[in-house]
Amino acid sequence: MTAEPPCPFTTSVASLLIGALGPLERQELETHLRQCPMCLEELILLAPLPGLLHRATPPELCPRWDP
Ligand SMILES: [Zn+2]
Repeated sequence: MTAEPPCPFTTSVASLLIGALGPLERQELETHLRQCPMCLEELILLAPLPGLLHRATPPELCPRWDP
């Protein structure tokens, strides 16, 4: 087993959730999330955390993507 992330964007998912990304980075990552199941899974895994640590997750970050 290796700890190497399969996609370089997965590390950015946590930053997105805590609001550490700028608007452009965030938009880029949100676009990427629609194409990358790994990052989307990471988002779903991490999504509850900011609510516990910091504040409620903003609605636009909820892992619900309408087709
Ligand atoms: Zn990805």
